[in-house]
Amino acid sequence: NMRNYEAPADLLKDRVILVTGAGDGIGAATAKTFAAHGATIILLGRTVKKLEAVYDAIEEAGHPTPAIYPMNLLGANLEDYQELAGKLNEAYGRLDGLLHNAGILGSRTPIDQHDEEEWQKVMHVNLTAPFVMTKACLPLLMASKDASLVFTSSGVGRKGRAFWGAYAVSKFGTEGLMETLADELENKKNIRVNAINPGATRTAMRADAYPAEDPKTLPAPEDIMGTYLFLFGHESQGITGKSFDAQ
Ligand code: NDP
Repeated sequence: NMRNYEAPADLLKDRVILVTGAGDGIGAATAKTFAAHGATIILLGRTVKKLEAVYDAIEEAGHPTPAIYPMNLLGANLEDYQELAGKLNEAYGRLDGLLHNAGILGSRTPIDQHDEEEWQKVMHVNLTAPFVMTKACLPLLMASKDASLVFTSSGVGRKGRAFWGAYAVSKFGTEGLMETLADELENKKNIRVNAINPGATRTAMRADAYPAEDPKTLPAPEDIMGTYLFLFGHESQGITGKSFDAQ
């Protein structure tokens, strides 16, 4: 558990890191925190206004200028991912980090009443899109001297829970994808593959899942950055195939 990790101020200096779902919640906090530690961030997400707000905050703070990459993971096809990888290759020639953070909740409902279309949407955004994006970006990650690939899991990705439906199953799949890929890349010394379960965090998704809860009782995204910083910095070199709890 690295929640109390104290990152050196220049931990991510000169690192190029792609963050999905970077416009809101944990993704926005991660993008700003990483930039504050010296990284150049590619802000990927579907709502451009939100990405622009994160971009402006990073610029105003005087941190390395980020890039905005608008993309809806729901409609994106293989060519879109290849185009993403091609543009990143042109601009940076490599990726030192990729955080799969974007996700959707779907509705909490028993399996026997689960809507099939919604099942496919949740599985697509949470599991299939990270798979295809990873596949497209692997050559860029392999071009880095020290690359970190991180997937976002959940408590319900390790132990099933009633009514969490496709969301829970997608997070089990995420853990499986992470472990499978980490095992395949075990002998590659320049890349590590891990997952983070953020734990209950004060975001729109959490409020959607627990409408009766007082958000003030929860840590803000900014409060759970220790594990994120640790996994994207050089001090986690050699750690791979693990699923971390951010809290
Ligand atoms: P938010 O809903 O606050 O943020 C999710 C982000 O993902 C948003 O920026 C959203 O964009 C983006 N996103 C959603 N769908 C798409 C899409 N189709 N294409 C591109 N981007 C998309 O959620 P959190 O910050 O709470 O969650 C972040 C991650 O952490 C998720 O993977 C979630 O499952 C996980 N998690 C969160 C917990 C919590 O307590 N908050 C607990 C356990 C896991 P937009 O703003 O445009 O909607």
